[in-house]
Amino acid sequence: MKSRVISIIIPSFNEANNIELIYKALDKEFADINYDYEILFINDGSTDDTLLRIKKLVLSNPKVKYISFTRNFGKEVALLAGFQHVKGEAVIVMDADLQHPCTLIKPFIKGYEEGYHQVIAQRNRKGDNRLRSFLSSLYYCFINKVVDVDLRDGVGDFRLLNRKAVDALLLLNEGNRFSKGLFSWIGLNQKIIYYDNVARQNGKTKWSFSKLLNYGIDGVISFNNRPLRICFYTGALILLLSIVYIFINLVLIIRNGIVEPGYFTTISAVLFLGGVQLLSLGVIGEYIGRIYYETKRRPHYLIQETNIKSGESYEGNQSRIYKIYRSGDH
Ligand code: UDP
Ligand code: MG
Repeated sequence: MKSRVISIIIPSFNEANNIELIYKALDKEFADINYDYEILFINDGSTDDTLLRIKKLVLSNPKVKYISFTRNFGKEVALLAGFQHVKGEAVIVMDADLQHPCTLIKPFIKGYEEGYHQVIAQRNRKGDNRLRSFLSSLYYCFINKVVDVDLRDGVGDFRLLNRKAVDALLLLNEGNRFSKGLFSWIGLNQKIIYYDNVARQNGKTKWSFSKLLNYGIDGVISFNNRPLRICFYTGALILLLSIVYIFINLVLIIRNGIVEPGYFTTISAVLFLGGVQLLSLGVIGEYIGRIYYETKRRPHYLIQETNIKSGESYEGNQSRIYKIYRSGDH
C-alpha cells in the first residue's frame, strides 16, 4: 500500500472520448511509481457525455474524483477549483486531450523529490501551424517586455507543483485568472523539462483565433499597469511632436505669411490622434472592466455535483496557508 499521494487535476470540457484514455494512461504510468494517485476531473460545463464517462470511472476506482460545474467557467477557473480540492502532497496539472504525455510524470516526480517547487514541462512547436507558431513567438517577445513576470513560449499549465506552490497559488484570489502568469508570479524553485509537441487525438481544440486573441490581451492587462504607462508616454510623445510642429509652422507663417492650409496634414492629425485616443480609452476601459468584475466579489465557480466529501481536501484552510507564508517555514 502506497501511503503518499500525488493529485492530478484534469480540466475537461467536452472531452467524452478522452476521459477513459487519459485515465488508463495515468493508471498504467503509476503502476511502477512509488506514490499513489488521486485523479480529479473538473467537468467544466460539458455538453457531451464527459460527466457520464467520469462517473463510470468513479464506480470502478474510488481514486477518481470529480467536480462538475453548473456551466462552463473556463479552464483557468477549473484549475482553481482543482487546487482548492486536491489532497495530494504534490499536484500535477494536465489536459484531458492526451497532448500532455504521461511519460513526463516520472521526471516530474524526480524533480519534486529533488526539492523543486515547480517542475515545468516546456514543449517545442513541432507539427504546429506555422502561422500560429510565428504569431505566438511574436506575442511572447512583446508580452515579456510589457509584463513583469517571465512568460515562456511553449510553457503552459502542464507541470507539477508541490504543496508550497499550490498554497501560494491559493493566496492569489483574483477572479480574472491568467494561470500562466500566476504560475510565474509565485516564483519558487523551478525545473524545466523539455518535450516534443503532441497533436490532439480526439475532439477539437477549444481555442478559436478570437479566443486566443482575448487570452493574449488578458495576459498583457492582467499583470500590471504598464499598458497605461505606455498610453501616457504615447500621449506625451505626441504632445511634444505637436509642439515642435506648431513652432515650426509659426516660424514659417511669420517669415512667409499664411499659405493655403494643407488638407492632408489636418486629416492625418485628426485620424492619428483619434486612433491613439480610442486605443488609450480601450486600455483604460479594460482596467475599469476588471475592477468592475473584481468588486462584485462573486464566487469563481459554482459546483453542481462532486464526489469529494467536505473535509477531504484542503479547501477552506486559508488561515493555515497565510500562517505558513508569514512564518516562511514549509
Ligand atoms: N478546457 C476547459 N474549459 C474550457 C476550455 C478547455 O476545461 O473552457 C480544458 C480542455 O478540456 C482541455 C484543456 O482545457 O483538457 C485544454 O484545452 P484545449 O485542448 O482545447 O487547448 P489547447 O491544447 O488547444 O491549447
Ligand atoms: Mg489541447
